[in-house]
Formats: sequence, C-alpha cells, structure tokens
Amino acid sequence: MEKRRPLIAGNWKMFKTCSEAMDTAASLIKLTKDVAETDIMIAPAFTALWPVAEIVKESNVSLGAQNLFYEKEGAYTGEISSSMLVSAGCRYVIIGHSERRQFFGETDETVNKKIKAALKDNLAPVLCIGETEEERKSKNTFIVLDKQVKKGLESFFSDELLSSCLVVAYEPVWAIGTGKTATKNQVQEVHLYIRSMLEKEFGSALAESTRILYGGSVKPNNILELMEMPDVDGALVGGASLDAETFSQIVHY
Ligand code: PEP
Repeated sequence: MEKRRPLIAGNWKMFKTCSEAMDTAASLIKLTKDVAETDIMIAPAFTALWPVAEIVKESNVSLGAQNLFYEKEGAYTGEISSSMLVSAGCRYVIIGHSERRQFFGETDETVNKKIKAALKDNLAPVLCIGETEEERKSKNTFIVLDKQVKKGLESFFSDELLSSCLVVAYEPVWAIGTGKTATKNQVQEVHLYIRSMLEKEFGSALAESTRILYGGSVKPNNILELMEMPDVDGALVGGASLDAETFSQIVHY
C-alpha cells in the first residue's frame, strides 16, 4: 500500500482583503518552495480566490475554497457553484466546517449534496466532522462522528470517492480557535476509528488512501507530535495559517 502524502491546509475563514491574501500567498510560496514531500493548500475567501490562484499557479501550493452551493447554477443569490470554484483555480473545497454547521444551518444532508457537487467537477472535498464539548463529555463522540461520516458520504461508491481524492478533517468543535488541542492520543484514537469506519463502509482501498487531517488549534509547537501518530495525515489550520511565517513553520514540521 502506497504511503499517504501529508496535507497541510490553511483555512483563512473571513479574513484578508484581496491584496492581503495575495501578499500572504506570495510570502508563503517563497517560504515553502523547498517542500517536496507534503501537499500544501490554502483556502482564502471567495473574493480572493482568483487573484491568489494567479500567484500560486506555478508553485507547490494548491488552492481550496471554504464552501460551495450544490446546485449547478441558477437564481441562488449569494451562492457559488463547484464549476465556478474550478474556474477560479480551486482543487479542493472544504465542506461542512463546524462554523458552517453552527452559524449557517449546514446539515449532514446539505453536506452530502455539496460533496456530490464537488465530485461532479473533480474538486477534492475536505469533509469536516467533529464533536462538541458536550458530546464528548457525554461520551457520544463516536456516535456523532459515525453519523456525520455515514450521512455525509451516503450513497457514494468507493470508486468515485477514491478518484475524488476525498479528505476527511477531524475537528473537535471544542478545539477550534480555543487554544485547546486534543491530545495526540485522543486524535489517534478518533482517526483510527474514522479509518475503520471508512473500511467498513467502502473497503480497504479507500480507508488506506484517504487522508485524515486533524484540526483544532494546531500551531508550530504541537504539529510534530500530531504528525507522528500513524493515522494523522496532516492538519487543517485556522488561526495559525493566517501568517505566512507561522504557517510555513507548520508545513515544515
Ligand atoms: C479551523 O477553522 O478549521 C481551525 C482548526 O481553526 P484553528 O486552527 O484556529 O483552531
């Protein structure tokens, strides 16, 4: 079985004007041009996708979007389709981030439709899942993750997920932007669980090739111990991806 290539992804959320995003992307590609063994992705706001695509196009940094809408086109004011993201230079799209679930009514059903739309246009979906603090305290972590994965990936065939280069990001909600990182053992336990669930649902080829990222207050000082865990294939980084120097340190773990 081929070794999974690590992926370090930066989610810039609702930060940075176009010129700020372009400056950060330009600094990042300079700082990471020596990186050959790790995939790097940044997800700026929609407005900055095209200008940042122009900056990263001949580099080893790929572009991702933070969301999409599942319809192909139409009267959906304020929404962006998968083909629009492709035309703006995206290779990845983050789907079901906990902030979308919490503030914008995203459900496992809409997540499923969005993944379907991404697959149609050959965008690699980064499916975000994770439990809240209450769910962990009440020992429901695995029940919650089980539902998010099964419903999010309902009715897909393993072949189409395989060729889509599906990525799963485990992001415990209590660790996002809080400075609280899950311990490396908590992360490994969950990642192994997700991988075995993928195996049960879709077979070992998909389970072994799917990259499972950890997200939640990842910083230069905790990335290495997380990456040393056998089922951690990378990180989805929020706050610490906004500064090129800090993000480059994480990429160079
Ligand atoms: C995120 O937004 O996906 C995230 C993990 O944020 P942070 O790194 O700031 O916790």
